Amino acid sequence: PARTRFAPSPTGYLHLGSLRTALFNYLLAKRTGGQFLLRIEDTDQKRTIPDAEQRLFQDLQWAGLEWDEGPEVGGPYGPYKQSERSTIYKEHAQKLLDSGNAYRCFCSAERLNNLAEHRHKLGLATDYDRTCASTPEEESEDRAHKGESHTIRLKVPDQYPTYKDLIYGTFRPLKKRGHVTETSFEDPILLKSDGLPTYHLANVVDDHLMKITHVIRGSEWMPSTPKHIAMYSAFGWTAPEFAHVGLLVDEKGNKLSKRNFDTDITAFKEMEIFPETLTNFAALLGWSHKEKSDVMDLAALIQNFSLKFTKGNTTVTFGKMHFLQRKHALLRAQAGGPKLDEITDNVARLLTSPDSPYPDWRKVVHSSPEPYITQIIRVDAENYTNANEFLYRNAFFFTPLRRSLSTPSTTPEDIPKRAHMLADISKEDWQKENLMQKVHEIIDGREQGKEGSKDVYHYMRMALTGQEKGMRIYDVMLILGRRETLARLGVD
Ligand code: GLU
Repeated sequence: PARTRFAPSPTGYLHLGSLRTALFNYLLAKRTGGQFLLRIEDTDQKRTIPDAEQRLFQDLQWAGLEWDEGPEVGGPYGPYKQSERSTIYKEHAQKLLDSGNAYRCFCSAERLNNLAEHRHKLGLATDYDRTCASTPEEESEDRAHKGESHTIRLKVPDQYPTYKDLIYGTFRPLKKRGHVTETSFEDPILLKSDGLPTYHLANVVDDHLMKITHVIRGSEWMPSTPKHIAMYSAFGWTAPEFAHVGLLVDEKGNKLSKRNFDTDITAFKEMEIFPETLTNFAALLGWSHKEKSDVMDLAALIQNFSLKFTKGNTTVTFGKMHFLQRKHALLRAQAGGPKLDEITDNVARLLTSPDSPYPDWRKVVHSSPEPYITQIIRVDAENYTNANEFLYRNAFFFTPLRRSLSTPSTTPEDIPKRAHMLADISKEDWQKENLMQKVHEIIDGREQGKEGSKDVYHYMRMALTGQEKGMRIYDVMLILGRRETLARLGVD
């Protein structure tokens, strides 16, 4: 069983990319019968957005990604918010000092800046030059004791640590700065001068203490991973497995950003995209499976999940999302129950609202609108995207049709007469089978044969819907009901 975590920083809201990261971690945990943790990485208090944390909770819950351990639900390795774990990080930095794997750095920000500038001019890597690494232990203790400002740095091995990424294989980066290639890398800061941890320290300590077995995260973290590996060995811990996933990019290869749709999840909610559509869509970005169909709800995603990710970035286009939305609408309609009711309620709310697009709906719908709307959804679900668009496509169900406008002007004479045959069906017998049979009788009874039957269809469809094409005619009749159907056909 895998223990995975989603570790967002509350410096922004959940967006498509981070939802995908959360989802992959969730799916791996659930696929293997393990746990999915949520951890808030709020070490950078300056960049924290006040409502980001609450919004993250809400959005993850909306998407159905319930966490087994984390804020609000607790768990055995809490607290799950880094700002509440400062002492733990301090203790761990101290452990590395004690074991000689870390050292205090007293260099001022000014010196570090000058150093970086100087080395940059020489075409060298701008890494820290390790001046303080050779400060004698006693002197270091003494200066710290006197309150001199300092950071704590990890003393990294001379050999660049490599690791085997589950997706990218052995990761052996070479630093290229101008014409210089270096295999060393900077001694990363663990504890800042204010005593608070850096991302690196907090992230590694927490992943270890929270017994995380697999880390799935964006490839932008790959350059940090060797530092993390170095830290795991300094502590004498086993590192978790790492699986890095490529970035999401637009068609031009640019990283998705606010400008090109990587807005926070709220935007998708406002478009009335279903949670199962969005998780399905996000899962398919850079992940492949062997199933015949791409349409999967969360349960199916869990069932089929494996770490088959594409190397490299994934181009996002939204056509697929709209395709999936229609498929999931159909599944909701077929399943019935609360998920279908949710669609119905959405449509009903819009229809009955003060700014209804069809304020005259009461002239057509003589009962409460919900059952009526549900009936329409059941036959039109495969076209469903959102309430507004649904009402627009099915406007004829909600607007009184003026016959003179909707019936074709050149109507073969007997057609309206034939339509009268529908009046033979009583209110009680106004059922699908009877309607199907009657419609066939009307058509088959004509002498002109096949050609003529098209006319009848066309006439009835235009009279009933005002449209050339659409759902089956007896479905329309059934939903409109006897009175409205006959009225539209001019039968009194
Ligand atoms: N806090 C980091 C973030 O916001 C977590 C990176 C990681 O998963 O290690 O993405």
